[in-house]
Amino acid sequence: MQLRYRVLVILLFSITSLVCAQQKKLPNIVILATGGTIAGAAESGTSAGYTSGQVGVQTMIDAVPGIKDIANVTGEQIANVGSQDMSIKIWLDLAHKINELLATDAVDGIVITHGTDTQEETAYFLNLVVKSDKPVVTTGSMRPSTAVSAEGPLNLYNAVAVAANKKAKGRGVMIVMNDQIHSPQAATKTNTTSVQTFLSPMQGMLGAVLYGQLEFYRMPHNIHTTKSEFSVKGVKELPRVDVIFGAADMNPDLIDLSVKAGAKGIVIAGVGNGNMNAASLEACKKAIDKGIVVVRSTRVPTGYVLRNGEVNDDKYGTIASDELNAQKSRVLLMLALMKKHTAAEIQEIFYNY
Ligand code: ASP
Repeated sequence: MQLRYRVLVILLFSITSLVCAQQKKLPNIVILATGGTIAGAAESGTSAGYTSGQVGVQTMIDAVPGIKDIANVTGEQIANVGSQDMSIKIWLDLAHKINELLATDAVDGIVITHGTDTQEETAYFLNLVVKSDKPVVTTGSMRPSTAVSAEGPLNLYNAVAVAANKKAKGRGVMIVMNDQIHSPQAATKTNTTSVQTFLSPMQGMLGAVLYGQLEFYRMPHNIHTTKSEFSVKGVKELPRVDVIFGAADMNPDLIDLSVKAGAKGIVIAGVGNGNMNAASLEACKKAIDKGIVVVRSTRVPTGYVLRNGEVNDDKYGTIASDELNAQKSRVLLMLALMKKHTAAEIQEIFYNY
């Protein structure tokens, strides 16, 4: 071979090896898809009506320009439901799958695509049962994939960027939506239709992510992932916990019915500082006497539920939810009820998680 051809071949070989080496250096991120509006489809780009969970994971990945430049991305379909149909079975499937994947060197981070309705619950649950400090990120969208200005692709791009970033390690499970990074312990869905729906009203967001560039402002301050005492290894179901919404002149019958139906725990989304009328408090007391754990949370969007505020928790045996809203109190109580605890221990759990 002539010298110049030999040089050309060597040059091409070196460039190819360099490109391959760089590709190999990209973090390996697995996207676990569960459905939601991000996978939703409508008849037209401006139609208000649509169906969640219509589009598969590969179609979602293919709709994100540049995603393959920031990570080696692979997708797996775990479910394809609107998150109003999210189930404990899917939570457990996700937890088992994530723990299995993150235990290997082949996976550096996980992204879960999920409807926004119950995303904070799934993310909070995983935050308590994932046994790894590698990044786990949930994301979704408020507009279906077929909408004019669908925001799902950018949310997915940003979620992958966060999961692929070393700075995200050790921060527990994170919700990435609309350029913001939130801790599920602090975050909640606050708007039924706006793309700016997740807020962390008491603690503020963890960080920001703009077109894949990210900055963290703080660490989550509650216990999560590797430090969490909760494990769902080998677990196939969780104890039943019901949420009962408080209101003026609320009827205590629902509390009695919940007990009859076999609930092991009840969360009251109480009025104000976790309050309820006298009749409901008495029904809670009866439930507690039967061994059911009752947590006082609140229907108010921000603030703490204080122990022994207007309700004497010491006398009634109720637990104050501290900062957790009712839906996340339910998640924590289901996990806490997997083992026998005293009321004082469960109260401590609510302070710590
Ligand atoms: N109902 C939808 C869901 O949670 C809403 C959304 O994804 O934004 O799946």
